[in-house]
Amino acid sequence: MAETAQKLVEELNHPQNNEVNETVDIPTTADVTADGKNVKQIKCQRCPSTILVPGIATLVTHEFLLPDPEMTGKKDKTLDDSLNKYWCVDNMYAFENVGFSKTVDGVKYLICADCEIGPIGWHDLNTKLSYVSVCKISYC
Ligand SMILES: [Zn+2]
Repeated sequence: MAETAQKLVEELNHPQNNEVNETVDIPTTADVTADGKNVKQIKCQRCPSTILVPGIATLVTHEFLLPDPEMTGKKDKTLDDSLNKYWCVDNMYAFENVGFSKTVDGVKYLICADCEIGPIGWHDLNTKLSYVSVCKISYC
């Protein structure tokens, strides 16, 4: 009984907080236009570099495991869900400041051209589509 009351108080104090992960900036419907494009400018998390200008990328869910040394050992369900969210671009020349790695198993990995943080996403040589992880970028 006391436990239930405690839980209720916590929910009142932190409405909708159980779905928010403070370390991951997951796009909401406010960040996406009616046709699914990015409203905000997509930027590098480490430096002021612009990666994509507004209205270029489409938010998609895609199963792909991006190699990430920082994520090793951090297996979190909320994080796993957002790890499958990507900004998809069908023209690799639409990127502003992005470098491409050498081809590895049919894909090229994307890095920030300025600070070389990465991989922030990948380019599929078969489909010619590029994907940028929502976990690897910030917005402005
Ligand atoms: Zn950068």
